[in-house]
Amino acid sequence: MPNDVFSQHASYDVAIVGGGAAGCAIARELSRTTATTILLERDIEVGFGTSKANSGIIHGGHHSGPNTLKGQLEWEGNQLWDDLSRDLGFGFARIGELTVAFDTAQLETLDRLEANGHAKGVPGLERWDRDRLRREEPNLSPEAIAAVFAPTTGVVNPYEACFLMLESACRNGVEFRGESPVTGLEYLESEGDRWLISTPRGQLTARFVINAAGLYADAIADLAGVRTFTIRPRKGEEYLLDKRLNGYVSRVIFPCPTPVSKGILVIPTYDGTLMVGPTAHFVEDKEDDTTSADGATQVFESVTRLVPGISARDCIAEFAGLRAVADTEDFIIGTTAKPGFINVAGIQSPGLTAAPAIARHVIDILHNEGLTTDRRDDFEPTIPHPIHFISLSTEEQIALADRDPSFARMICRCELVTEGEIREALDRGARCLDGLKFRTRAGMGRCQGGFCSGRCMELIAEKYDIPITEVTKRGGSSWIACDRVDVAVDIAPASPTDRNSQDG
Ligand SMILES: Cc1cc2nc3c(=O)[nH]c(=O)nc-3n(C[C@H](O)[C@H](O)[C@H](O)COP(=O)(O)OP(=O)(O)OC[C@H]3O[C@@H](n4cnc5c(N)ncnc54)[C@H](O)[C@@H]3O)c2cc1C
Repeated sequence: MPNDVFSQHASYDVAIVGGGAAGCAIARELSRTTATTILLERDIEVGFGTSKANSGIIHGGHHSGPNTLKGQLEWEGNQLWDDLSRDLGFGFARIGELTVAFDTAQLETLDRLEANGHAKGVPGLERWDRDRLRREEPNLSPEAIAAVFAPTTGVVNPYEACFLMLESACRNGVEFRGESPVTGLEYLESEGDRWLISTPRGQLTARFVINAAGLYADAIADLAGVRTFTIRPRKGEEYLLDKRLNGYVSRVIFPCPTPVSKGILVIPTYDGTLMVGPTAHFVEDKEDDTTSADGATQVFESVTRLVPGISARDCIAEFAGLRAVADTEDFIIGTTAKPGFINVAGIQSPGLTAAPAIARHVIDILHNEGLTTDRRDDFEPTIPHPIHFISLSTEEQIALADRDPSFARMICRCELVTEGEIREALDRGARCLDGLKFRTRAGMGRCQGGFCSGRCMELIAEKYDIPITEVTKRGGSSWIACDRVDVAVDIAPASPTDRNSQDG
């Protein structure tokens, strides 16, 4: 995937601003057509915004009512993930979920969830009683009296999905530019209804601009002179637990939801690690992804009520994500006062679930607005699936290592990631340490990269022919190593209240 500056005034049918789940899904959907498309992303790689810092759940379809756009697109999106994951090869499994009631008052909430599901045609919903719960999820609290079981709920590796949707889009003709924040938007009526788009890397024009900038969708709409909404960040803190708890519950466990949040959950992630969270509270700063002692207390108090065997002592990593909440609390997807500028804004939860359906909805809007394209005859829906050494049989691992000795060299001992997988991830577009981590899991295990980061950095430096001091954690100025530091060392004892925010 090239990442160089634009040719002078490059011209496209569609420019997508923002490479989260929504932008990447739209790019892939557009790559089925003959439209010329470019995706502009502020960060060095796609999926580094809210789309990497979430619960990774493909919601079952019954949580939101049918009268909101997010409620409609949740169920439509849910049904598209099987084909998408089969074609692209990212991790996705329908493990099912339980929403649990602890008293008779909460049974009404279960009734409402079932009614939502029936109104939308969500199949397979069941009401489980206390005995069934004990049999199916023995580690669930014995105080749970009933639950709604939804087999349609799945878990996904959200960042892997973003990377591979973009890769598929690029293989089918879409252009991608990372480290290209959009800084200006000017409507050129006199030049055939086109938009002049400015970035620090150069300018380009497009007939249509899709505003999929997540937390900054209001700022992008402002640049275009069509802002009608404000985005507020609602933070969610999540906590990852030690492998000893893998398999402790086998379905996503929800408490009964509140009006602003689906509650604090126990999530068996696609890779097997248990995750607990998220919290839900508004913050002012759109870059504030810190975790807090209060958040941890709230999460562990809530989840131990659901699953008493979980303890805060099992936490190995923590991170926070920010939901992009619009004033209406619903998705804002559609045309604006100026021709060709289309908002995909306010994509809070269940935006990951809905992303493939959002993409289809946007293509319909583009066609209604006059984008004339044909289906591409040569569209290739599948891409080579990434190799995950750990998930191969012993015979397959031996054969692979015989064929390519780089698969015999272990880089990440916690997650058993080989040098071959790191090299493959670099060939497929990883540009920084987080790009490798989110593609391969190197650095996500118990030691949190203490063992493998150095070797990963060497491989990045070798791939891009740069000194190791230029390798970054996630682009920009997030360098990790420096040449030499001449400072007087004065090590103060760490404050016991210091907490580190880490990505999961
Ligand atoms: C804690 C938490 C848990 C969640 N759990 C779930 C879940 O389990 N299931 C679910 O369905 N949803 C969940 N969500 C919601 C889901 O993560 C979001 O709805 C989804 O990721 C939004 O995707 P997006 O593409 O709209 O935004 P983002 O992923 O934020 O992408 C927007 C992109 O725009 C880029 N950008 C910003 N400004 C500019 C600019 N000027 N120029 C170029 N690019 C720019 C950003 O860098 C970013 O990459 C959760 C959210 C949170 C916070």
